Amino acid sequence: MQKSAKMLLAVVLFLLCLNVVIWYAASQASHTGVLTVSFLNIGQGDAIYIESPTGQQVLIDGGKNRAVLRELSKMTPWFDRTLDVVIGTHPDLDHIGGLPDVLTRYRVSTVMRSSVHDEEGTDFAAFNKAIETEKNAGANEVVAARGQIIDIGGDAYIQILFPDRDVPLVETNTGSIVTRLVYGDTAFMLTGDSPESIEEYLVRLDGSKLRSTVLKAGHHGSRTSSSPLFVGFVDPEYVVFSRGCDNTYGHPHEEVVELFKRFEIQTFDTCTNRRVTFMSDGNTVTLKK
Ligand SMILES: [Zn+2]
Repeated sequence: MQKSAKMLLAVVLFLLCLNVVIWYAASQASHTGVLTVSFLNIGQGDAIYIESPTGQQVLIDGGKNRAVLRELSKMTPWFDRTLDVVIGTHPDLDHIGGLPDVLTRYRVSTVMRSSVHDEEGTDFAAFNKAIETEKNAGANEVVAARGQIIDIGGDAYIQILFPDRDVPLVETNTGSIVTRLVYGDTAFMLTGDSPESIEEYLVRLDGSKLRSTVLKAGHHGSRTSSSPLFVGFVDPEYVVFSRGCDNTYGHPHEEVVELFKRFEIQTFDTCTNRRVTFMSDGNTVTLKK
């Protein structure tokens, strides 16, 4: 190799190393003491990416297809192919469809799934197969149960509020894992596609302890969720509709939109707002512009 070529190679290598160092420093600096929660723009479905105050990374649901990978690549440095926790709330395509791709692309430490088994579903089979492969690579598999707490660092944690029993496959939505992400005085209520009956059951169990700053409207803003009683107890400042513009269900339903208007709660929508990201310093939650 000529001397000039060697020099060029050395410069390129140096710049590459510098790039990694800067990315790493930037990613460390950006999460110091701040929790970020992003409702990803993945069309009709849910995919919620969380970065804890210490940089732990959590994904709750993965939308219906590979679109989640494009979104995740914008949230994480290019060299980072790890996630700490992945949660599949229930075995419907618009929640677990993208997770096999996520588990293939990323090394995941803990996979949490619902006790609902959709033995017939091909999406569920693909998700299960991906979990098995990930377990062989060292991942933990956890079946969600009420009372579990996932510590994500920096005093932030995820509470599992539901299911409190094994859920038979009658209606997969009913078995959705309900999580409440807590950081200081702020909290995010994430209910998957839980119907009103479960929301109201949680009101009976937890009452005022449900209070949260941000509520992801259950089931993409369907009228089957967002019971006024539940919304009253959660008492959110902000609500997010995670849904695609082209959904054939009419989500969010008009009466649900009206309910939040009547309660004077500001709403965001992954169709019109694209990706919706909140930042919490433990005292207040702000929207990242
Ligand atoms: Zn759904």
